[in-house]
Amino acid sequence: MFDFIKISRPRRMRVVCNGHPALRMKSLPVMAITDEIRELAQRMIVTMKENEIPGVGLAAPQVGVNKRMIVIDTRPVGRKEKRAEKQKQLSPGEMMLNPLMPLALVNPEILSSSAETETCGEGCLSLPGVEGEVTRPAKVLLRAKLLDGKEVMLECGGLLARCLQHEIDHLDGVLFYDRIPKEQQEAANDVMAELAAQEAMLAATQQKI
Ligand SMILES: [Zn+2]
Repeated sequence: MFDFIKISRPRRMRVVCNGHPALRMKSLPVMAITDEIRELAQRMIVTMKENEIPGVGLAAPQVGVNKRMIVIDTRPVGRKEKRAEKQKQLSPGEMMLNPLMPLALVNPEILSSSAETETCGEGCLSLPGVEGEVTRPAKVLLRAKLLDGKEVMLECGGLLARCLQHEIDHLDGVLFYDRIPKEQQEAANDVMAELAAQEAMLAATQQKI
């Protein structure tokens, strides 16, 4: 009825959960940064920020689009975090990208990773209710394109490095669940099965329509 009204605010998208096929597919590179890609980036940012528990990152497969694009916002939130951030040495990636966040990265790649690792608890908007500890390289060398077409190559540390690895995993069909210890996987299996059942039910209803 109101089709003629041009909606200027990007619309939120549904975050697909465990069991949705898009989460297990290898995503294809973005060939050109078109209006369609820019709109998808805006909608992904809104989706990430307006989630019940706001995310620090979201990958296109999580909104059912198998394209190599992610959005991130790993800036410190609370006053305590902001103070802690001032005191530590930020990586070149954090220094350059933090002021641009929330930010979309197109065709992001990790060119190399540090031997030094860190273990930290993770969660995922596509796996609500699942938690676990993941050991990942502490620093990574990122190469990606920004939406204006500019290419960046930056050494990234801290939460940014962790988030990039988690989101780029999504582009290869890998979930953080795959990387948590066996006993934590077992503890999460009921929730994983429940999420998959919900996705299967949604798929069946959509087919009927
Ligand atoms: Zn995730």
